[in-house]
Amino acid sequence: MDNYCEDMKKKLIQKKEELGKVVESLLLEATDINVGELSTLDTNHLVDTAMDMLDREQITGKLESIKAMIADIDHALAKLEKKSDKFGLCERCGNVIENERLHAMPWSRYCITCKSNMDKRR
Ligand SMILES: [Zn+2]
Repeated sequence: MDNYCEDMKKKLIQKKEELGKVVESLLLEATDINVGELSTLDTNHLVDTAMDMLDREQITGKLESIKAMIADIDHALAKLEKKSDKFGLCERCGNVIENERLHAMPWSRYCITCKSNMDKRR
């Protein structure tokens, strides 16, 4: 794995940890559950646990978008491990994802053009 991939991997893991903290604070805000115990779970489990416990629409929406982002991060991490030559390429059109975009969101799966086309169709 080259330096670029190492760097991206670090960023992805860091972001995942950040998201885990966001989920913890959501839990803490909404419940009096002892989060210390929960944080030994990995981030994915933490989000699932939070979704089970917090059945409030407002929070569920937030958790769902966090969960989707974590899935994208895991996906990007797997890609870095298994086929790093494909990392940074749009999964739809195969073009190189804009550097700026990849820098801000290393978990991006699509280039800006594809992403905006997909958003429009939704
Ligand atoms: Zn594309």
